Amino acid sequence: MKAHDGLYIDGGWRPAGRPGDLIEVVNPADEQVIARVPAAGRDDVDAAVRAARAALPGWAATPPAERAARLTALRDALAARKDEIAETVTAELGSPPAFAEAVHAGLPIAVAGSYAELAASRPFEEKVGNSTVLHEPVGVVGAITPWNYPLHQIVAKVAPALAAGCTVVLKPAEDTPLTAQLFAEAVHDAGVPAGVFNLVTGLGPVAGQALAEHPDVDLVSFTGSTAVGRRIGALAGGAVKRVALELGGKSANVILPSADLAKAVHVGVANVMSNSGQTCSAWTRMLVHRDRYEEAVELAAAAAAKYGDRIGPLVNAKQQARVRGYIEKGVAEGARLVAGGPEAPREPGYFVSPTVFADVTPGMTIAQEEIFGPVLSILAYDDEDDALRIANGTVYGLAGAVWAGDEDEAVAFARRMDTGQVDINGGRFNPRAPFGGYKQSGVGRELGGHGLDEYLQTKSFQF
Ligand code: NAD
Repeated sequence: MKAHDGLYIDGGWRPAGRPGDLIEVVNPADEQVIARVPAAGRDDVDAAVRAARAALPGWAATPPAERAARLTALRDALAARKDEIAETVTAELGSPPAFAEAVHAGLPIAVAGSYAELAASRPFEEKVGNSTVLHEPVGVVGAITPWNYPLHQIVAKVAPALAAGCTVVLKPAEDTPLTAQLFAEAVHDAGVPAGVFNLVTGLGPVAGQALAEHPDVDLVSFTGSTAVGRRIGALAGGAVKRVALELGGKSANVILPSADLAKAVHVGVANVMSNSGQTCSAWTRMLVHRDRYEEAVELAAAAAAKYGDRIGPLVNAKQQARVRGYIEKGVAEGARLVAGGPEAPREPGYFVSPTVFADVTPGMTIAQEEIFGPVLSILAYDDEDDALRIANGTVYGLAGAVWAGDEDEAVAFARRMDTGQVDINGGRFNPRAPFGGYKQSGVGRELGGHGLDEYLQTKSFQF
């Protein structure tokens, strides 16, 4: 697989300080090493931050219309690489080709386009009574991204940051650095000035940590595990700097008695299994009224069993072991396995079978913790208040779904949910709607105008 042997700093590919330090990129579908990329050290991160700092005044002063033009060019440069992006995500994440093309490549192109429009249309200066309010870039952004939607997670941070006039140093996940390199190529081709965007591939505890604690980074935007997010939040708090955290989820799919049960279960199972369950907003808890519980369990088990070979692997051996551990724990705590199980369905590759648990109670580990694999828990409720208590009864609050015979009924329930996003009767993804969590699912929002505002700070002049 094509790979750059340098880091993209100050507008070009530069060798890392210790060129012998490399990260092996593995195809999780067959466990073969497909490429090696540099593992940046502290000095490399420092060089990238210095480049971003030096480029900041010029980019912050660039008229929004010109920043919008560069973002349009970035969208086009990504679109020109759509096939290559999809092939790369398939190779380093194991994503089935159709999903890689439609979602992993298609979605970030749409998000880049939305920020080209927002950069051109958002007022960066406005009158409020006798004041003028300026919306200025926060400064140098340190972006740390995960592997589950490798390009989307990058674009959801870098595009609004550039639209706002910020400069960026990106540290992508070690499992998916090749997609990040393609993104850097697209930024370069889009004519974004040197230093405005910089890429340091590297290990989390080395390069990620160095970026998170760098004194010259003004805002850290992180997506990933709650454990690392907590540390980054604490570091940012200690340094009194801005932070955005997109962490885990344990979203509820609430099927009210009036809903079309078969459709709700079918879409619900597909939602959990997509991307092999590696989606922070996945509806991993299905809540069904006790009267129709067994019917829902049968439908879900049948839907999961139909997947067969169509599901991709998990990203690496560690995640596979972690997910299998959760399945074993579900069995040990008394949940009823109705599809899948802990045995790997095939080898080589880090595969886990689409798994469905019935008789899950709200306190079980599999109903509380983020599993990040193709595992659905089905819980029974007695009435709407009981359903709400269960839906809101985790430390997370990222997303969710409500199904009912009519939208008003579903919306009335959704208003009471402690969560940042709810899909009503299936919903349709909107790349301009704010995405982010209540409670321990995070701090801040991504996408749309709210995502742009994360990268702005205000100044006011009084007349
Ligand atoms: P992680 O939090 O370790 O990795 C996410 C990013 O943080 C990567 O770029 C990584 O290199 C970096 N990182 C790791 N340690 C760091 C440190 N000390 N300082 C700064 N950066 C650091 O996540 P993971 O181990 O890849 O996945 C573990 C679990 O995290 C998953 O099972 C899942 O529950 C959760 N997760 C959530 C999301 C999400 O979208 N919210 C994405 C991926 C993983």
